[in-house]
Amino acid sequence: MKAFVIAENEGAARELCAGARTVADSVVLCVVGAPAITGVADVCVHIDVPAGNIADDAYLSVKSAFDAQGADCIIAENALRPLSLVGRLTAALGTAAIAGATEINGTQASTMYFGGNGVRTANAEAIPAFIVGSGVFDGSAATGTDTVEELAFQAPANAVIKQGEEALPKADINLAAADAIVACGRGFSDEADLQLARDLAAKLGAEVGCSRPLAEGVDWFPKEAYIGVSGAVVSPKTYVACGISGQMQHMVGCNGSEVVIAVNKDKNAPIFKQCDYGFVGDLKEALPALTAAL
Ligand SMILES: Cc1cc2nc3c(=O)[nH]c(=O)nc-3n(C[C@H](O)[C@H](O)[C@H](O)COP(=O)(O)OP(=O)(O)OC[C@H]3O[C@@H](n4cnc5c(N)ncnc54)[C@H](O)[C@@H]3O)c2cc1C
Repeated sequence: MKAFVIAENEGAARELCAGARTVADSVVLCVVGAPAITGVADVCVHIDVPAGNIADDAYLSVKSAFDAQGADCIIAENALRPLSLVGRLTAALGTAAIAGATEINGTQASTMYFGGNGVRTANAEAIPAFIVGSGVFDGSAATGTDTVEELAFQAPANAVIKQGEEALPKADINLAAADAIVACGRGFSDEADLQLARDLAAKLGAEVGCSRPLAEGVDWFPKEAYIGVSGAVVSPKTYVACGISGQMQHMVGCNGSEVVIAVNKDKNAPIFKQCDYGFVGDLKEALPALTAAL
């Protein structure tokens, strides 16, 4: 079995290639429009995107690479460009990708539905293709060579013509790699109080994340910072949920954490049934006390 991994971020490429090696004898990594990544696959096929084109339009080159490598399964990073490329690649191959795979077992994958209230098993099509987020293959070590094969960008007949580009403000946040996360919820009634969470995070060496309302209701956090079924799925060693009620849509994003600690002033909040340690109290008192104790 030969796996064809499409990824663009180094951490994801490392994790997906390591996971691919547990199901395949050889692993090819395909990187489009980002620097080549070595040491994680048997070969890295690198496709540069010329100025004036967009990475999504590299699908003909990606298909050529897939055919030339003779791969029999596809694993793609859950990031915008790999998602677009895997969609076009699988369409061209007459197969379909299973999105949001949380577990892969041969040609089957588990995925969540109804906002994480259910888990179903999906059977792969002719050529198994999976879109995988972080934490699914956690624990496997990546191995590989420094071999990079450059492949030319092949423009499709109706390529998108890039008129210009503007950088999005880059969120300085990496929840996937964090060992500890302090997550803030609507229990914070005042943006200035977020400093209490940042102080605790500094003591723990943690990243600061949030529930969706703090990133999409008010914009106290960038979208990359919210955890849950429609945000990031994380699996740190320690997850401290502060002023978060424990709705399913949030908890499916963090229930892979080793230890969940909750701070909430309502002793009946659902999160207290889903945590390892719970503090019933006002976060304005509990967080400084925790920080001081640490
Ligand atoms: C389709 C869909 C997708 C969704 N996806 C996501 C997702 O990906 N991620 C996500 O987070 N949500 C998601 N949601 C929203 C989700 O259902 C919840 O509304 C949201 O998670 C609630 O956020 P919260 O816990 O911060 O707020 P609340 O539910 O309002 O909880 C606030 C908590 O803070 C406590 N509190 C208040 N004041 C204090 C204080 N001073 N000290 C201590 N505790 C205090 C309260 O007791 C309460 O328990 C989604 C919803 C839908 C419908």
